[in-house]
Amino acid sequence: MRLAGLLVVIAATAAALGSQLPASSSSRVASPIDVLRSEHRGALGAADGAVPDGTTLFDDEVPGVANLDPALLGALRRAATDAADDGIEFFVDSGWRSPEYQRQLLREAVSEYGSEEEAARWVATAKTSAHVSGDAVDIRPVDATAWLSEHGAWYGLCQIYGNESWHYELRPEAIAHGCPPMYPDPTHDPRMRQ
Ligand SMILES: [Zn+2]
Repeated sequence: MRLAGLLVVIAATAAALGSQLPASSSSRVASPIDVLRSEHRGALGAADGAVPDGTTLFDDEVPGVANLDPALLGALRRAATDAADDGIEFFVDSGWRSPEYQRQLLREAVSEYGSEEEAARWVATAKTSAHVSGDAVDIRPVDATAWLSEHGAWYGLCQIYGNESWHYELRPEAIAHGCPPMYPDPTHDPRMRQ
């Protein structure tokens, strides 16, 4: 019964979030790349940034967490601690990734989406990915990202891409000025055109 209740809450939250998103992404809770990622999570070692299920921001022994930029990790931990007071737990879906891991994700995305152009809307190259530099984290579940979308700016934590509600980076100026406008997807980010 409790699980069923939880699923209803998750579905309702997802529906509420989905209604704010463009029609193309409103029909699903998890993106194809999320599914792809969890299917292949076991194929890559933790040393490359694969994150075991249930990993939190406080799991220092997981390289995907430990290799994050210290300022980003500090802000995330402060946010996660405050969110816990609201009964919300943050889990890390992906954090730091090795260039090899990023290259594999990109190869998988190209085969999934059929073209490099379409894959680029979801997965960056090893050279441009903020995950490879330790400057980005993907958070789950949906109630955690909903909490971050409401309170993240207080910690300098911002959603960067409209199509990635789970992807957060540190924008210290957001504490005073709020988060900058989002790019619709990574192809609009000047950092991705290198
Ligand atoms: Zn991400």
